[in-house]
Amino acid sequence: MRIRGGSFGYTQSKKSNRRYEVVVGIGGNVGDVKRRFEHLFYFLKRDKRVELLQTSSILKNPPFGYLEQEDFLNAVMVLQTSMQPKSFLDFLHRVEKRFGRVRLFQDAPRTLDLDIIFFGNKKMKSERLTIPHKSWFERESVILPLTELYRV
Ligand code: AMP
Repeated sequence: MRIRGGSFGYTQSKKSNRRYEVVVGIGGNVGDVKRRFEHLFYFLKRDKRVELLQTSSILKNPPFGYLEQEDFLNAVMVLQTSMQPKSFLDFLHRVEKRFGRVRLFQDAPRTLDLDIIFFGNKKMKSERLTIPHKSWFERESVILPLTELYRV
């Protein structure tokens, strides 16, 4: 199911001169997720370290892994930043915290999950960070919004 409206399905044509174009997957399944996504949008729009260029519409997806939980809402954002990947991951973790994320266990319900899907054309694999995201091509929650954004 596709949910349009609000700030999702947004495009800003003017790019900044920040160094990298990054695709970030967002998800959540606790509380009013749509409202939280809206807050996240305005939060990122105000943050000078990133330039938010595009958002996909929001999709509703069944959970994977741990199945006894609510459906997830997912979307994808395209933004620009000059931060390096690890600093950007730290930044995303701080944003998750700000929006109330508590890590309970793997695949547990979550208020806000932010994943780096692509980071420019960088490839890396470390304990903390795999780019491109290790399972982006297996997840409808990522592929469908990407198809919408890049019309591939
Ligand atoms: P999760 O609980 O599924 O959000 O996984 C979080 C952990 O995955 C983070 O603490 C990261 O260190 C690690 N990780 C590895 N690759 C990525 C990526 N591309 N985007 C976000 N987190 C990643």
